[in-house]
Amino acid sequence: MPWIDLHTHVNMIKRDAAEVIANAKAKGIERMVLIGTDPNDIFVVQKLAKENFPFVSCTVGIHPHDSVKYTDEIEANLNKLVALEEVIGIGEIGLDYHYDHSPRDVQNIVFRKQMEIAQKNNLSVEIHTREAENDTLTVLKEYSGKVRGLLHCFTGTKWMAHEALKLGWDISISGVCTFKNSGELRETIKSLPIDRIHIETDAPFMTPVPHRGKENEPALLVHTAKFVAELMGVSEEVLSIQLKKNAKRLFPKLNWV
Ligand SMILES: [Zn+2]
Repeated sequence: MPWIDLHTHVNMIKRDAAEVIANAKAKGIERMVLIGTDPNDIFVVQKLAKENFPFVSCTVGIHPHDSVKYTDEIEANLNKLVALEEVIGIGEIGLDYHYDHSPRDVQNIVFRKQMEIAQKNNLSVEIHTREAENDTLTVLKEYSGKVRGLLHCFTGTKWMAHEALKLGWDISISGVCTFKNSGELRETIKSLPIDRIHIETDAPFMTPVPHRGKENEPALLVHTAKFVAELMGVSEEVLSIQLKKNAKRLFPKLNWV
């Protein structure tokens, strides 16, 4: 089945990237999108994408944890990188009030600065939001109709999911939905329209059942895919075809015929 892992950090996996990529291909993964998070790894993911294009592409952005490092020079780098064919979006950007690694006011400023880059370049955004639903929605409202994208590794409330949908944003589901204590999330997923969802590994994090305890990798996306198909009451084939359409709609630069 053709799947796309729309959010993965292959560069953070402890094994050799070439082996991880080959293993994903062997399991039916047809595309993967590496996600930038800080001033250095945006170049690492871009290089990996370029070397493995079009199987691998990437997004670039500064994670809310690293907002405090954001400078004009970094912004110039982001503006340069988005012109490359292997760079298909902005992310991950957003707000994280769980860890508060950067001050909240700085996170909000840097989030908006990068939404501006997305708007200017007509690129979709992968958003990280944790314990910051109201402030995230405020930004999404400001850019509604101007910037689109997805809420990555969604674990928020059902209310949040539907508010985001109304504003034109999609929801991306990770292996978290397979965890025993994710009953509420599973109920939320069942309420989502199938043409507005995506799946991802967020590897090396969020390893799905039945591989909990092991380092996550894109090849393990197939477990989340099977699980989500069952939750949505469709065959894996129907889900696969729909998710491909969804990914291509949201990321027009994605090179996937
Ligand atoms: Zn991530």
